[in-house]
Amino acid sequence: MLEDFLRELFEINKIKVTDVQFNEMAEDIQGYFDMINEMESYQHAGPSPVQEENKQLKKELEKEKNKQVCPNCQGTGRNIINGPYHSAESFCFKCSGSGKIDP
Ligand SMILES: [Zn+2]
Repeated sequence: MLEDFLRELFEINKIKVTDVQFNEMAEDIQGYFDMINEMESYQHAGPSPVQEENKQLKKELEKEKNKQVCPNCQGTGRNIINGPYHSAESFCFKCSGSGKIDP
């Protein structure tokens, strides 16, 4: 089938090839098709790295959604310590500055 297609293609374009050249090209193209088929079956065989990455991101997002606002800093991620002369600001020790904590 591939060889018929090739012969037709050569005839349409008026390309003259010897039988040896023709067979070599047919073999090359067949090998190319085989390679593509192999790659496709490989891709369908299991989850691709991209799909795995998406799963991981979804998990992270879900985790982020379930987090609660830090009661210690009300989600600001900072603590303001009021001293007698000046006030100092520091990262919240409870949520380490993220403003959210795991439930
Ligand atoms: Zn906090």
